[in-house]
Amino acid sequence: MINRTKCYSTACIEYYRPIEMTVPRLIFFPADARMIIDQHALIEQLKHIAFIEDTQTRDTFPPGERFLSLLSFLGCSPNIKLSAQEGDDYCFISLLKASDESRCLGHTPTVKPKCPHCRKRIAGWQVENWQRGDTPVCCDKCGKASDTAELNWKHECGFGRCGFTISHIYPHEAVPTEQLLSLLQQFSGTPWDYCYAR
Ligand SMILES: [Zn+2]
Repeated sequence: MINRTKCYSTACIEYYRPIEMTVPRLIFFPADARMIIDQHALIEQLKHIAFIEDTQTRDTFPPGERFLSLLSFLGCSPNIKLSAQEGDDYCFISLLKASDESRCLGHTPTVKPKCPHCRKRIAGWQVENWQRGDTPVCCDKCGKASDTAELNWKHECGFGRCGFTISHIYPHEAVPTEQLLSLLQQFSGTPWDYCYAR
């Protein structure tokens, strides 16, 4: 018998190489939380658009030549490190391990989701197993139920079955360019979304 609750706790999100859950990160995933993207094809695409370097590694990748131009950094002088030589808190890209069902991929400590129906903040959203994307949450304002994956998380939490992560990006320090999101959509045939976590 599979112990499902065990697999969906925040501490159990599996990466090919574990990233400490306190590391600030920017996470990309298909906007449809049920969607699965072929991992090998995703790596090849990220290499093709030079978002990651074309290395022989299988799980984590250094930023590629177009990494900085496919993201928009906010603030005048972001302290972005692109290689381990510049410090331990450098940016590297890791694939998320694909899962059978949508689950929370990460979130910020200040996340406050809004109801997709009435657009108001939902109180008491942290129900048991909320990290599972198909867990229903009832809005305390309008009374309508939504799955946690369908709430408006305002980029402070994300749900999905696959995707990739950039380490050492602080919440709202960088946003993807329209070009990056459109390249991901063109390749996969489905829109992409992103969130911050730390
Ligand atoms: Zn509502």
